[in-house]
Amino acid sequence: MQKLDLFKEQISSASSKRIIITTHHKPDADALGSSLALALYLKKKKHQVTVVTPSDYPSFLHWMKGNDEVINFEDKQQVDEARNLIGEADILFCLDFSNLGRLQGMEEAVRASNAFMVNIDHHQDPDDFADFSFSSTKAAATCELLYDLMVKVGDKDLIDKDMAECLYSGIMTDTGGFRHPNTTKNVHLVTAELIGLGADNSKISRLIYDTYSVNRLKFLGFALTRRLTILPELNTAYFGISKKDLRKYQSQTGDTEGLVNYALSLDGIKIAALFTERKDGVKISFRSSEDVAVNKFAATYFDGGGHKNASGGISSLSLEDTMKRFETLVKENKHILFNQLALVDEKNQ
Ligand code: 5GP
Ligand code: MN
Repeated sequence: MQKLDLFKEQISSASSKRIIITTHHKPDADALGSSLALALYLKKKKHQVTVVTPSDYPSFLHWMKGNDEVINFEDKQQVDEARNLIGEADILFCLDFSNLGRLQGMEEAVRASNAFMVNIDHHQDPDDFADFSFSSTKAAATCELLYDLMVKVGDKDLIDKDMAECLYSGIMTDTGGFRHPNTTKNVHLVTAELIGLGADNSKISRLIYDTYSVNRLKFLGFALTRRLTILPELNTAYFGISKKDLRKYQSQTGDTEGLVNYALSLDGIKIAALFTERKDGVKISFRSSEDVAVNKFAATYFDGGGHKNASGGISSLSLEDTMKRFETLVKENKHILFNQLALVDEKNQ
């Protein structure tokens, strides 16, 4: 039997299944949008569906249909229910990530599951954990792939306005508002279809991009004036944000999202980074211009990965030491980063 047929059989409305949908830690619009759109779709196919996220996510995503029923694995009051549901699931969907480590504290519960595993994703080098995988690095967003998959299985007529708005959100944000090089012809064709299905594109862009709190806007001003380091000779600029900074501006989940792009918006800057001090280490976001790849850099030195021009990682050094190490590594790898050759092996220097 073809893999797609097996998948179709699994999700067929002929028998109601217990389904869990999950995504990566600190979900973004693509992660949450694809999860909620899929939940709405599978409910129409008469399944019992629950979205369990490994953590909370930004409030500018709370308008999405189905948000109220999401279970947060990091919420002490919800974790037991989440564990039970994962343990009992017939099908478990993993969306918008390619390795189970990105589930963080939820990883073990998912690994222990005997459910039929499905992975829908657009990251490189997927781990081999799924029974059915619908994955392509050519796709700009998981939401784009999910749309294509629903069309492929013959269910385009099940996509309603609410689902279209979730899907549109993920494509809009993962293409940086239709600006990044991943904004392909298919992206525009799919988003045109989604608008045709009722997605209110102007409303969605306002809800996601223009709903800052006063604190968030003031924090942005502070970060731009006090926390930005520019290294013109390395075509690099980065932000370093401490726990204290976050506390001072009563930072909420999502308040640092997009900040790294301001570093990349500078003329001549090709590599941008954001270092954010968290309780369990320093979280890093990397961005680069089209001709520079940061995913291998993130994977080699910061235990991370991602896309060519948008990737991330972590560091267990202090914020100061992480930033120093980053500067050294960019210096050492400058000719390599800009020419796409093999990166320098730190240990053999
Ligand atoms: P962001 O900077 O928005 O958090 O992440 C940008 C992209 O980098 C994500 O879409 C994801 O592909 C990748 N990414 C972020 N953090 C990590 C990480 O810790 N590990 C890996 N493998 N990829 C990451
Ligand atoms: Mn994505």
